[in-house]
Order: sequence, then C-alpha cells, then structure tokens
Amino acid sequence: MSIDHRLSAEHEELRRTVEEFAHDVIAPKIGDYYERHEFPYEIIREMGRMGLFGLPFPEEYGGMGGDYLALGLALEELARVDSSVAITLEAGVSLGAMPLYLFGSEEQKRTWLPKLCAGEMLGAFGLTEPDGGSDAGGTRTTARLDESTGEWVINGTKCFITNSGTDITGLVTVTAVTGRKPDGKPLISAILVPSGTPGFTVAAPYSKVGWNASDTRELSFADVRVPRENLVGEEGRGYAQFLRILDEGRIAIAALATGLAQGCVDESVKYAKERVAFGRVIGDFQAVQFKIADMEMKAHTSRLAWRDAASRLVQGEPFKKEAALAKLYSSTIAVDNAREATQIHGGYGFMNEYPVARMWRDSKILEIGEGTSEIQRMLVARELGLG
Ligand SMILES: Cc1cc2nc3c(=O)[nH]c(=O)nc-3n(C[C@H](O)[C@H](O)[C@H](O)COP(=O)(O)OP(=O)(O)OC[C@H]3O[C@@H](n4cnc5c(N)ncnc54)[C@H](O)[C@@H]3O)c2cc1C
Repeated sequence: MSIDHRLSAEHEELRRTVEEFAHDVIAPKIGDYYERHEFPYEIIREMGRMGLFGLPFPEEYGGMGGDYLALGLALEELARVDSSVAITLEAGVSLGAMPLYLFGSEEQKRTWLPKLCAGEMLGAFGLTEPDGGSDAGGTRTTARLDESTGEWVINGTKCFITNSGTDITGLVTVTAVTGRKPDGKPLISAILVPSGTPGFTVAAPYSKVGWNASDTRELSFADVRVPRENLVGEEGRGYAQFLRILDEGRIAIAALATGLAQGCVDESVKYAKERVAFGRVIGDFQAVQFKIADMEMKAHTSRLAWRDAASRLVQGEPFKKEAALAKLYSSTIAVDNAREATQIHGGYGFMNEYPVARMWRDSKILEIGEGTSEIQRMLVARELGLG
C-alpha cells in the first residue's frame, strides 16, 4: 500500500494554471460583473479556450481526457477567487454535459459534446420544480409520446435552473413523468430540449442573494415538442440517472466550497497583515490568529474529504457516502469561514468591494443546492444502515 499527498505532475500543472488564471484574469474583473448582475461571457469564453469545460471528457468528444479530480481542482481554484464562474463551470460540466456523456446516445454525444466541451455552448439540467427540489421523485412535469408524429410533448415548470438562459445556452435536459409503473409510481425519464424550441419559455434571471454573475432562471414548457430520439438514456431510468449525476455533482460542489473556504483564509491573512488597530496589525492579536488557524484547519480537512471522494470515483469504487460527507462538511465550513472572514474585515467586510463580502453572499447556497445539508445527512445515515 502506498499513500501520497501529492498530486500527479499533470494535475498539479492544471491546478497552477487555473490558480494563475483566477488571480490574473478573474480577480480584477469579476467584482464589476457581480455588482451589475451580469454574466461574464468574456471570462467564460477564456475558460472554454483553456479546455476547462471539457476536463473530464474523452478527447474523441472534444474533451481534455482528464477526470473528476481534475475538474475538482479547477473548481477549487476558481472558487478561491469567485464562485459565480465556478458554478457556471460546475453546472456546465456536471449537470449540462455529464448526463449526455454518461447516458446519451452516440448521436447525442457527437452532436452536443464538442460544443459543450469547448465552452462555446452551455447545457443545463432541469430537475427542481416550484413544488419541490429535495423530493425529486415528486416531479410533476410530464412528457407524453405522440405516436402519430414520434414526438415527446412536454408540459410543466422547472425552477432555479443554472445556465439555462444565457446567450450561449444550447440545451436543457429535463426530468419528466413519461408514464406509470404497474404499482402506480411514476416513470421518470430525462429528455433533451434544445433552446429555442417553440413553447419552451425562459424567464428573466432571478434576483439572487449571491452567485450574481451566474445565470439562474425559471423554465416553462407548454406543449413543447421534441423528437422521440431526444430521450436521454432509457425511458423510466431518469430518476436513477439523476441520482448518479447528483452523487458526482456533490464532489464538484464540495471542491467549489473548499475553494471558497480557502479564499476566505487567503483574504483574511492578507488583511490581518495590513490592518492596524491599537498600534499593531490585527494579525498580532491571538484572537485573530486563532480564527484564521481554525479556518485553515477546516479548508484543509474539506480538501481531504472531496479529494478522497473524487479518488474513489476515479478508481471506480463506491463513493456515495464520501461524496455526501464531503458536500455536507465543505458547505458547512464554507459558511463558517465566510462569516469569520467578514468578522476579521470588520466594517469593510460588509462592503461589496471586498471579496469576502462576495464570499459571504455566495456561501449560503452551498448548503442548499444539489441537495440540502439535511438531504446529505439522510444519505449518510442511509449508508450507515439507518432508516
Ligand atoms: C442558485 C440556485 C441554483 C440552482 N441550480 C439548479 C439546477 O441547475 N438544476 C436543478 O434542478 N436545481 C437547481 N437548484 C435547485 C436546488 O437544487 C434546490 O433548491 C434544492 O435541492 C432544495 O430544493 P427546494 O428549494 O425545493 O427545497 P425543499 O425541498 O422544499 O426543502 C425545504 C427545506 O426542507 C428540508 N427538507 C425537505 N425534505 C426533508 C426531509 N425529508 N427531511 C428533512 N428535511 C427536509 C430541506 O432540507 C430544506 O431545508 C438551484 C437552486 C439555487 C438556489
């Protein structure tokens, strides 16, 4: 048995490249986009050119031939500086492209993945509905197969869907009830709907507490017709498919949350060395040192947790419990670190021009999106044989 804390040379090079990009390109510009609630097309285009949207996909579909660890490393480095661009990447890869890669037909992969991997097009995943997100099996959206035309006819509403209304959004994969099992339970399937399909309406962006430079919208479907071939995977397997997608996505969100937590440490160390109170820099006060030491402890532990889950996924081992633990822990400590970093910045921490104010606003959603903390606890308990 061997154990090694170091990344491979390729992974470390990727991590460093994204770290530099985040520092040199994103950090100077993102505050203005965030303030204007504007989607940063220019930055996303650059990320596409770097290959970030294709990281875990094979080269034959336009990807970089990397793995989920590579994606996590990129997300962590982006979120150290800004979470809006990180969630755009996370949702684009884990929710937009991954369902097609894992479950799509060869034709769907060849048609859509090259553009998604290049970041020229964004995909979205529509699972959550106004009546419920945690209880995803309670989907009300329906899709009826019209045998006369060979088309699915979709009706319903999805809410809070990331990347669903940008100028470069090309598709959304939605879950819909396509029939009933003999016991009356719904058959849930996943169906690909190209942007611009008649009857598919994308609402104006939500006014959000955070992630203000990312795109989140409500979607409605009124007799939307798409060809039968737009079914993603097998009919009735949509529920099992999205559970797999969410298991993987939790690792990505955990990496993103770790980045936010580490960004809070970075900003706090910098500020503690500059800010003077009572004739000394505040970093000389043990109360501030201890806060920062605790923040570093949490970010470090969180990193170990998401990398452990990613490593299990990459090795083809079971990773459900570890992914839920990593998501639960990292999102909890991201909120902790954002609160403490704001405290260390005093009144300036409450001013939007300081990155920690953005981190504070961006942290809370991490305990909610892609499965709330309560849902993560339920998953862990279930894996322990309870309930
Ligand atoms: C900015 C943003 C982006 C998002 N992007 C996407 C996206 O791209 N695609 C997508 O499909 N969804 C997306 N979501 C939706 C997100 O995944 C859901 O909001 C989340 O899963 C929670 O669902 P809900 O909001 O319906 O809350 P509910 O399910 O109504 O939960 C409300 C509260 O009840 C608790 N609760 C529910 N059931 C239980 C239970 N059995 N035991 C204990 N507590 C319980 C929850 O933990 C929560 O605290 C996004 C949300 C936001 C805010």
